[in-house]
Amino acid sequence: MSQILVYVPDNSRHAGEILTLARSLGEVAAVAFNEEGAAAAAEYGATTLYRVNEPQVDSYFAAPKAEAITSIAQGQDWGGILLPGSDEGKAIVGRLAVALNRGFLTDISTLDSDGVARQDIFAGSRIVTSKVTDGFTIATVKAGAVNAEPAPSTPSEEAVDVSLSDDAKKVSIVETVDEPAGDRPGLTEADVIISGGRGVGSADDFALIEKVADSFGAAVGASRAATDSGFYPHKFQVGQTGTTVSPQLYVAAGISGAIQHRAGMQTSRVIVAVNKDSDAPIFSMADFGVVGNLFDVLPQLLEEVEKRK
Ligand SMILES: Cc1cc2nc3c(=O)[nH]c(=O)nc-3n(C[C@H](O)[C@H](O)[C@H](O)COP(=O)(O)OP(=O)(O)OC[C@H]3O[C@@H](n4cnc5c(N)ncnc54)[C@H](O)[C@@H]3O)c2cc1C
Repeated sequence: MSQILVYVPDNSRHAGEILTLARSLGEVAAVAFNEEGAAAAAEYGATTLYRVNEPQVDSYFAAPKAEAITSIAQGQDWGGILLPGSDEGKAIVGRLAVALNRGFLTDISTLDSDGVARQDIFAGSRIVTSKVTDGFTIATVKAGAVNAEPAPSTPSEEAVDVSLSDDAKKVSIVETVDEPAGDRPGLTEADVIISGGRGVGSADDFALIEKVADSFGAAVGASRAATDSGFYPHKFQVGQTGTTVSPQLYVAAGISGAIQHRAGMQTSRVIVAVNKDSDAPIFSMADFGVVGNLFDVLPQLLEEVEKRK
């Protein structure tokens, strides 16, 4: 059985997704730099855990981790190497591929045992299947592309000592700011997202979207028109240039369904659209559509949810 090497940055849902994909391909060897990564490796079925002991890795951007992963990966014939589709994952994957002298793919959503990967491109309007032809696949995995399925294990742990090169220390991280998370789940982890668009009309009226979200224990999302209009902070934007989400339930209220918005939410399990324009493109992809004014429809939804609690 081939071994798949996975970089596990933390204990997020995305980490679980990559480990689940890796498990479907072979035995999983995880690389972790912290406790959270090690915990995810055990929760999602890794058989080997490479535990890197180098406190300085977090003081510099990407390069030290790329060096450490390279040193683990070198000289072995892996079935594949997978990394998260985060900014950090993408910064590492290029360095890793150069160091290992192999091709790589970014933002894959599936990978089969023959090394053939799928990528959804042009805002999800085209599907590309690709294969790294000079050996095993090195790839970053798109967030939300796979269902994370736990499979608890007790991986055999191997401590890895690395010494960082001067090159790896060229870009220092001078400050890390933790944004207050609030009570709502994050967009990428949320099972339910209630999103508002320009149709919500104002920042004050986004309170209704928040109220509905809170009754579901959901995250709040927004279209770019809504964030550009100052109705809601940019970090909640869903779409091509915002966050890609794949919740169980996505409610789009007052959102027309432009392709750039759809690119970020079309993999949601169930999509519900509320729009007063029956010709809005969002209805072509919605599982359930309500033609109506969101200020009439959402309070009824809220009442119904509260009644059933
Ligand atoms: C390069 C690029 C990247 C982009 N990236 C993104 C992205 O990441 N995410 C994103 O969302 N967009 C993105 N956009 C913008 C995108 O093209 C659309 O402009 C945007 O999604 C429109 O947002 P909207 O649907 O909220 O607004 P609109 O298109 O103005 O639609 C508002 C909708 O609300 C409905 N409505 C109005 N009032 C009510 C009411 N009271 N009740 C019910 N319905 C009502 C209207 O019928 C309409 O359908 C991008 C564009 C470009 C060019």
